[in-house]
Parts: sequence; structure tokens; C-alpha cells
Amino acid sequence: MEARKFLSNCYKDCCRICLLKLPKTVLLYNIFEDHLRERILDFSFINLLEGRDLPKFICQKCIKKLDAAEEFKQQIEITENILKQHKKTKKRKPYPRL
Ligand SMILES: [Zn+2]
Repeated sequence: MEARKFLSNCYKDCCRICLLKLPKTVLLYNIFEDHLRERILDFSFINLLEGRDLPKFICQKCIKKLDAAEEFKQQIEITENILKQHKKTKKRKPYPRL
């Protein structure tokens, strides 16, 4: 019952991602602004919907995790591209000697 009460009041001042109650003194980031929702969707494939009774803020800790996740994804893509290029150049046969 307590959890139910917490969740029903959570939409006002909780982080949408971790459900941490955000103090009023903390700078709040609206998840539906500045492409934050799209950034989350880009790697999690979870389409966060806007709703009157759903939290719309994201905390600083979760934004840092989002940044780290994007950096990790970029690292994987960069490494994969390097390995693919290496494989392509390795497969090429050298010019025949005259
Ligand atoms: Zn959070």
C-alpha cells in the first residue's frame, strides 16, 4: 500500500528512470525536452510515453548513466568498424609481381 501511495505521488518529483525522489533544490531535467527521450530510446528500445500521472523528470545520476551508455555504444561501433576495415584490407590480394 505504501509503494502504491508513493508511486501515485511520484509523478511530481521523482526521476522517471530510477524513481529517486528529487529534492526541490536539485536542477530538474525534463525527459521530454532536449532529445533526452530519443537518446534513451536509441539504445534501450523503450519508448517512454508522456502521461499526466507519470514522472517527466530525470535525475543528474541517470543523465550521467545515459552519457556513459552512449559512450560505451560508440566505443563498440568504433571498434567494430576498425575490425571490419582490417578484415577487408587483409582479404585483398597483393598486386602480382612482374
Ligand atoms: Zn534517476
